[in-house]
Amino acid sequence: MSAEHAGTDITPLFSAEAIGNRIREIGREISGDYAGASPLYPLQLIVVLKGAFIFAADLVRTISVPCRIDFIHASSYGSEKTSSGSVTIRHNLNIAGRHLLLVEDIIDTGLTMQQIASELMAMKPASLRICTLLDKPDARIHPVEIAYTGFSVPDKFIVGYGVDYDEHYRELPAIGVLNS
Ligand code: 5GP
Repeated sequence: MSAEHAGTDITPLFSAEAIGNRIREIGREISGDYAGASPLYPLQLIVVLKGAFIFAADLVRTISVPCRIDFIHASSYGSEKTSSGSVTIRHNLNIAGRHLLLVEDIIDTGLTMQQIASELMAMKPASLRICTLLDKPDARIHPVEIAYTGFSVPDKFIVGYGVDYDEHYRELPAIGVLNS
C-alpha cells in the first residue's frame, strides 16, 4: 500500500502477501474442522456485506470442503468513523439445520456480531461459528466467541482489503490504519 492514497495518510499494517498467507492457514483449519461437510450438507458461509466481500472471496477459494455462500447486509457506521450504536441487518436466509460460518471483516465492540449471531441462532441452524479477518480485542464491549481470526489489530480506524471509510479504500490490496 502506498503511504499516500487520494491525499490521505495510511500507515501499512498487513501486506497483500501476509493477508494471503494467513487466509490460506485459516482455510486449511476450516477445511479440517468441517471435514464431514458434503454436497448434501455443505458448510454454509454467511458473509457480512459490504466489508467482508474480498476476504470471503479469497477465503472460500482456500476451503476444500463443499460450501454454500449467502450474504447479509449489516451497517452501523454510515459515513462516520465511530459506530452509531444500532445495527441494521438485512437478509433472506433459509438456514435451519445448517452448519453456519459467519464471515466478518472486523469485530470491534462486538455489537454487530452479537446481534447477527442471535438473529441467526433464532432460525435454528445446526451450528454457528464466527470467522473474522480482523479483531480489535481492546474495543470489545459485547463478548463474542470467535472461532477463526485473521489478525488482531489495535483500536485504530482500519481501511483496505474491502474495508472502507465512507466507501473509500475498499480497493486497496493491503490493510492499514487511516490517520485522521
Ligand atoms: P462492532 O459492532 O463490533 O462495534 O463493529 C463492527 C463493524 O464496524 C465492522 O463490521 C465494520 O464494518 C465496522 N468497523 C469497526 N471497526 C472498523 C474500522 O477500524 N474500520 C472500518 N472501516 N470499519 C470498522
